[in-house]
Amino acid sequence: MKLKISPTAFAEMQKHAEATYPNECCGFFYGKDGEIRNIEVAKIVTNSKEGDQRRRFEVSPLDYLKAERYADEIGQTLLGIYHSHPEHPAIPSEHDLKQAVPFFSYIIISVMKGKTEVTKSWQLDDAGKFEEEEIL
Ligand SMILES: [Zn+2]
Repeated sequence: MKLKISPTAFAEMQKHAEATYPNECCGFFYGKDGEIRNIEVAKIVTNSKEGDQRRRFEVSPLDYLKAERYADEIGQTLLGIYHSHPEHPAIPSEHDLKQAVPFFSYIIISVMKGKTEVTKSWQLDDAGKFEEEEIL
């Protein structure tokens, strides 16, 4: 899958990732699915992980429900989740793999010393492994 992220949505994700540093941030993004996924809207979600959030994030079931509703409201598709990796590369962890669901794109933003660096996106393949997506 290929992704195109609108500059506004991308800027919001980056700002969020820096604001929550050294903790992980997370959020949903919405847009139009197709041969190329067009991401148009990013929306912040509270990291509901209890305790240390530097290496983990969690999205509550209620927030998933709200995200589905919001997608309907704005007439777009819920395409995935972004989260940050403070002081770590933009590569999914074992934990990320366990939590991943098919269809979603998983955008990971690496934040080094409080500044966003590499951003990569991943999607589960048929074998249940993460495959990197191309960000155009
Ligand atoms: Zn992660």
